[in-house]
Amino acid sequence: MTRSAKPGGGPVDGKPPVRPGFPARLQTATPQPKPLSPARAVKTTSPTAGLGMDSQAVRASMVRKLAAQGISHPQVLAAMGQVERHRFVDSALAGQAYEDTALPIGLEQTISKPSVVARMLDLLMQGRTQLAGRVLEIGTGCGYQAAVLAQLANEVYSMERLRGLHEKARENLRQLRLPNLHLLLGDGMLGYPKGAPYSAIIAAAGGQAVPVAWTDQLAVGGRLVAPVVTAAGTQALLVIDKQADGLRQIVLEAVHFVPLKSGVD
Ligand code: SAH
Repeated sequence: MTRSAKPGGGPVDGKPPVRPGFPARLQTATPQPKPLSPARAVKTTSPTAGLGMDSQAVRASMVRKLAAQGISHPQVLAAMGQVERHRFVDSALAGQAYEDTALPIGLEQTISKPSVVARMLDLLMQGRTQLAGRVLEIGTGCGYQAAVLAQLANEVYSMERLRGLHEKARENLRQLRLPNLHLLLGDGMLGYPKGAPYSAIIAAAGGQAVPVAWTDQLAVGGRLVAPVVTAAGTQALLVIDKQADGLRQIVLEAVHFVPLKSGVD
């Protein structure tokens, strides 16, 4: 019941869309590895090289690499160039903040690597210049992706189930003063019905299936991007478009996200 797409992502081939039954549990996932060039370390001269003007140059270099890897949406590239990733990680890791690597953020969680954040946002933004209306993010973590999303969307609701990280994200984001970003402590598996319908939903943690609450809370014309565990036990990126006549899903490349868990800790 799944179709794969070209590495550029998005609906392909002009074939009629497949409308799966829900919950969207994957039976025959065909993850297609994206031709990402291997992560190369950004040359930083010292652990503090990620600050001030230095960090702007390092981010510009990161953005050039993202573009070379196939990220094409101008606003996504601009937002990735704008948000200072080094401010969201431990100061001891700041020197690695612009390498294409996931980094620990505490409580056994990680900040996703820049290429994955950019890829998911590129998919969300396909065919649009802005995410109008409200956007729901599941898995605030340290708040980095939420800050990038806030550059692209009217209103962002970001949910985190771990109080420690919810508070850390609040602290990390305080200086940025993003009035359109709302941090919520709660179980994102239930979505956030008060903000629905959402023009976009993005998850940074992967479960066995996409919770029905998410597709219920997605607006018609909206898109959901989330990692989901496949029948093979690995994770793949899943795109679901909600259309007037139903849901269409596309399975993309293999990914590695932390598990989606229920409840609040
Ligand atoms: N986008 C984040 C990545 C965080 S990692 C960043 O930029 O840092 C994924 C996060 O999802 C973890 O913090 C984890 O606690 C959270 N998570 C897992 N299951 C969740 C759920 N049901 N509701 C809300 N958050 C969840």
